[in-house]
Amino acid sequence: MLQQVNGHSSVSDAQGGESFREDLQEFLSGEAPLHQLDDLTKVNPVTLETVLRCLQARYMADTFYTNAGCTLVALNPFKPVPQLYSPELMREYHAAPQPQKLKPHIFTVGEQTYRNVKSLIEPVNQSIIVSGESGAGKTWTSRCLMKFYAVVAASPTSWDSHKIAERIEQRILNSNPVMEAFGNACTLRNNNSSRFGKFIQLQLNSAQQMTGAAVQTYLLEKTRVACQASSERNFHIFYQMCKGASADERLQWHLPKGAAFSWLPNSERTLEEDCFEVTREAMLHLGIETPTQNNVFKVLAGLLHLGNIRFADSEDEAQPCQLMDDAKCEGSVRTSALLLLLPEDPLLETLRIRTIRAGRQQQVFRKPCSRAECDTRRDCLAKLVYSRLFDWLVSVINSSICADPSSWSTFIGLLDVYGFESFPHNSLEQLCINYANEKLQQHFVAHYLRAQQEEYTVEGLEWSFVNYQDNQTCLDLIEGSPLSICSLINEECRLNRPSSAAQLQTRIESALAGRPCLGHNKLSREPSFIVVHYAGPVRYHTAGLVEKNKDPIPPELTRLLQQSQDPVLKVLFPTDPEEKSQEEQGQSRAPVLTVVSKFKASLEQLLQVLHRTTPHYIRCIKPNGQGQAQTFLREEVLSQLEACGLVETIHISAAGFPIRVSHQNFVERYELLRRLRPRTSPGPCSLSLDEGRSGERGPSVSHLFNHSLLSTCAGPSQG
Ligand code: ATP
Ligand code: MG
Repeated sequence: MLQQVNGHSSVSDAQGGESFREDLQEFLSGEAPLHQLDDLTKVNPVTLETVLRCLQARYMADTFYTNAGCTLVALNPFKPVPQLYSPELMREYHAAPQPQKLKPHIFTVGEQTYRNVKSLIEPVNQSIIVSGESGAGKTWTSRCLMKFYAVVAASPTSWDSHKIAERIEQRILNSNPVMEAFGNACTLRNNNSSRFGKFIQLQLNSAQQMTGAAVQTYLLEKTRVACQASSERNFHIFYQMCKGASADERLQWHLPKGAAFSWLPNSERTLEEDCFEVTREAMLHLGIETPTQNNVFKVLAGLLHLGNIRFADSEDEAQPCQLMDDAKCEGSVRTSALLLLLPEDPLLETLRIRTIRAGRQQQVFRKPCSRAECDTRRDCLAKLVYSRLFDWLVSVINSSICADPSSWSTFIGLLDVYGFESFPHNSLEQLCINYANEKLQQHFVAHYLRAQQEEYTVEGLEWSFVNYQDNQTCLDLIEGSPLSICSLINEECRLNRPSSAAQLQTRIESALAGRPCLGHNKLSREPSFIVVHYAGPVRYHTAGLVEKNKDPIPPELTRLLQQSQDPVLKVLFPTDPEEKSQEEQGQSRAPVLTVVSKFKASLEQLLQVLHRTTPHYIRCIKPNGQGQAQTFLREEVLSQLEACGLVETIHISAAGFPIRVSHQNFVERYELLRRLRPRTSPGPCSLSLDEGRSGERGPSVSHLFNHSLLSTCAGPSQG
């Protein structure tokens, strides 16, 4: 019984006795049908099975959002539901006196977040952390929330300022199609999968109008530009160009209709996302003029031709590899050089010959590369150009949408990051992604669960403490110092010694022996290690881990690109006079940061920002892997519920006291009851009132309500 009472959605201080009475009546009327349970804390008992049944019932009734205490669960409808995201509905949530009394929705979260910024005496920045596995709907949700704020936080409608306001809101929204065109791709799990993490900070002025935004991205999957798994595709932008370019542009970019590019697999499939016009239009809105756009697309076309270059094995090791014996391949070198505005011979030479500096005099030696090495250098060139282009785009977007620091005071951050991943083969990418998820989980635990329990202690409330899973030991294993998985992989990079996958496994196992979250690897034939994450154990393969972490870029490639006359490449690869003179004097360059080190630093920065905000959580769930509407696969949902620790979250929310009223308000609202009920014995209600009055030590916030208090308070409403 207590559980049900506690399960009512949180009621803020500002609400009157009316809402309490409504809560109470609902409670007294008995259990609602499963699909009508708006909050998973109301299922009884809270188990994976009951939660699953409730979500299934709601999904089949076309109800996609459900509260789970402090978290909102969002089921992907996999079908258009326009009425669920209409501007009218946005306004309804915005205008509602108590949006949390409306049906659970991302707009409730959006609106509460928005009100939190302004309603507090001291404005506090807010963040909404959207998580879930690939295809669950994170990007969709973030996009909808951005649209919501573009409507509710729009500037006033005076004609002139409205124009400016519209421009900034529209410009912020326009960053989405551009970033998705360059950073999303069709994968096995999602036709529009984000291949990077994103944190967008929506900046608000003191009148709570959106004056700008800033975007931060994380870990773009740049390998995709040169290597796509079968049935997957390259980044959308390449297909958009090839399908949407005009006849003139085709000529300029050497993209004849039907041309075959090896880095453009599955191009016969046309997706909704393949809309070049939308991307170009959005780029224009962001201030990227047509000539600059054309330069960008010319460079991308150059990369596509680069991908068609094929090398043949060399019979003589002392001689550079030849191009594959066909005219097409030579044509690819020529066209690629032409589009990238690079001299043709140095391009080919850089791909085929490595220069090594050695000895005291830093003499330069030239060593022909093997065929595999040539391929690697070609791919590396493409990855280097594409990742710098992506970073440049983000910086252009930021300079277009970022408000002047004096024109905003608070922000709402939206985090759309990859969820926890566990595949048959996991490598450095999954290690970074799961590391990020561990950090976010810790943030969640620290912020919500721990804060709640500590508050009860301070308030002196009787409370049986829930054992939450503290994942610090797992984080120590991954990132701790002096010894952790990250430090060991970094050490291998620093020592630069030849080391096999098996040796790396042994080093990790012996250096970190006894760590509780390091699993044993008895059955796997491939060298690997297991990390027991909060969401489950994941086996990481050690082959290629060190090399991926180094992410080496041969300096010759950068030097080559610095020779380009192309205006875009000139911006992406500026010549650094200091670096050049250092090189000429044979001085070694500054040590390059490893992938893990860079990722760790950007993650720490993100968490610093998040720690300064009040977080809100949306957990997106994919009801099935096929993207089908009205299909709820229990097994698939179950593993996602486990991965995000939802049941633990519900337990703590359900066992807690979600109805919180300040003592002052409580006294004002319910003092009447004391008069109605003669005080024969000191019941909890009167006791609480008196304690507050007399100034004795007692809760400053009344975390309501135990059963006897409810019976006491139910009296008047029942007449
Ligand atoms: P990834 O991690 O791969 O980027 P994601 O979690 O960002 O995945 P989305 O791209 O947001 O997933 O969603 C996948 C697809 O699901 C969308 O392209 C869309 O077709 C559908 N979808 C998601 N949410 C909704 C929704 N609320 N209404 C209708 N369709 C949706
Ligand atoms: Mg996404």
